[in-house]
Amino acid sequence: MRTHYCGELDTSHIGQTVTLCGWVHRRRDHGGVIFLDMRDRDGLSQVVVDPDTKESFARAEHVRSEFVLRITGLVRARPTGTENRDLASGAIELLCRELEVLNSAETPPFQLDEHTAVSEDVRLRSRFIDLRRPEMQNRLRMRSSVTSTVRNFLDSHGFLDIETPILTRATPEGARDYLVPSRTHPGKFFALPQSPQLFKQLLMVAGMDRYYQIAKCFRDEDLRADRQPEFTQIDIETSFMTEEQIMALMEQMIRELFSKHLGISLPEFPRMPYSEAVSRFGIDRPDLRIPMEFTDIADLMKAVEFKVFNGPANDPQSRVVAMRVPGGAEKISRKQVDAYGDYVGQYGARGLAWIKINDLSAGMEGLQSPIIKFMPETVVNQVLQRTGAQTGDLVFFGADKAKIVNEALGALRVKVGLDLGMLECEWAPVWVVDFPMFEQDKDGNVTSVHHPFTAPSCSPQELEANPLAALSRAYDMVLNGTELGGGSIRINREEMQQAVFRILGIGPEEAEEKFGFLLNALKYGAPPHGGLAFGLDRLVMMMTGSHSIRDVIAFPKTQSAACPLTEAPGAVPQKQLRELNIRLREQITE
Ligand code: ASP
Repeated sequence: MRTHYCGELDTSHIGQTVTLCGWVHRRRDHGGVIFLDMRDRDGLSQVVVDPDTKESFARAEHVRSEFVLRITGLVRARPTGTENRDLASGAIELLCRELEVLNSAETPPFQLDEHTAVSEDVRLRSRFIDLRRPEMQNRLRMRSSVTSTVRNFLDSHGFLDIETPILTRATPEGARDYLVPSRTHPGKFFALPQSPQLFKQLLMVAGMDRYYQIAKCFRDEDLRADRQPEFTQIDIETSFMTEEQIMALMEQMIRELFSKHLGISLPEFPRMPYSEAVSRFGIDRPDLRIPMEFTDIADLMKAVEFKVFNGPANDPQSRVVAMRVPGGAEKISRKQVDAYGDYVGQYGARGLAWIKINDLSAGMEGLQSPIIKFMPETVVNQVLQRTGAQTGDLVFFGADKAKIVNEALGALRVKVGLDLGMLECEWAPVWVVDFPMFEQDKDGNVTSVHHPFTAPSCSPQELEANPLAALSRAYDMVLNGTELGGGSIRINREEMQQAVFRILGIGPEEAEEKFGFLLNALKYGAPPHGGLAFGLDRLVMMMTGSHSIRDVIAFPKTQSAACPLTEAPGAVPQKQLRELNIRLREQITE
């Protein structure tokens, strides 16, 4: 129907007769002449319709925003002084010879360039309009380029793209399952995969050697900002590769993505043990662009007569840390310090102690702080020395249960770093390694830090002797404080898998019932294998500089896991429920 895309035209087309198809972005009636900005996936072109073309002009008088047109015309240079430098096609215009209305359009619920004024709900309800915006088109285009590069990279490294079932059994990745009732097996349910984890492992047992899939995963999690109940992973598994080899290959893939699509050459990916990340930054996905870290000072605080500090200092479950903010005494006002106090309160911290170092050479006189009166001068000096504080700096403190200190000061570190513009570089990748195998939840239950199929770096006997001390062969790729992906070497022996199940309190019957097929497969020559998965949505979000993963998903769900466009989830007729052998506990009328 067309010869060119609107956004494609430039001065090289001057003198040519072309045909464009697209939407009316804007229409301006300048008395004798009508100007139409025509828009398609590639951009805009200005069309001039003058009254000489009688029929077309009459039609142009009636077109409105978002009408779909087909226009044939002559490309000519815009008159001097009327060029639009912001537009690729800004130096030319199309003199209309023929205008055909392919379809009309009602007034859209919002003008494309006024989308920011409407709520996200309105945008999602009319997503087909929202997606017409160049910004959204560019994001989805980037997403498509990213998956294409990933496919090419993996294909050229011998990976096979293999689909795994969507109707399956639960795979534990730490979230609730989405269940699908079976009509043919009354009372039984499929679970939608939280990840293709077990299938990709079975593919390794099957000798497929290298697998990948751009896979949809489903996790019914509680409302946390920027999560989607269904999301996409670049899911990967390999046999006979060590963790170092897997990490090196994946690093190469991510590096290629950034250089090809953004022209960015990512720096080296350092390796950092989990324990170091938590000790220095309070978190297992540190943002290494920010040059601030924690200094442990519990040993200095054990004997001070200040309960806020000596309590946690003497409790093995707690932590006392200091964090030096270079230049913070000058850059952070009293009011802002209070605001940071409120901020850490969201993470459970009961306050935020601080010292401003106005003049280091003036001793205690040169310090300003609500807490130093509770501490001997020698302790204050030791703290300052250990943190390396200088005149003009500010030191924040955290003293509480380790989890609270890590979360509160970890978040504060990032916030202050961003507020004060402290970023030392644009991109800071890191591999976090040597995770613990297990952690204990607040009720004392032992749970997997990754998933139960992750291999430990010790024997089954050592693992069972001291599970909480065991490290896993897992690795997470972190970029600018965001986890891009994670994976591990897997357990490939039944004995080890059984040991892990025992530690997790999964008895032999339950293990057999839920994972019998895996345990069975491990008996038949399961090769050493491992892999990982990248969150595609998050990766594209970072690469496009978007603020939400919803902006890089064509049809996302809201924070309450609903789709405003289709109004899913929806009620179903009684008859359908009966076929599925389901009776609702109460009749829900909506
Ligand atoms: N299945 C894991 C996940 O979805 C990734 C992996 O271990 O490969 O997080």
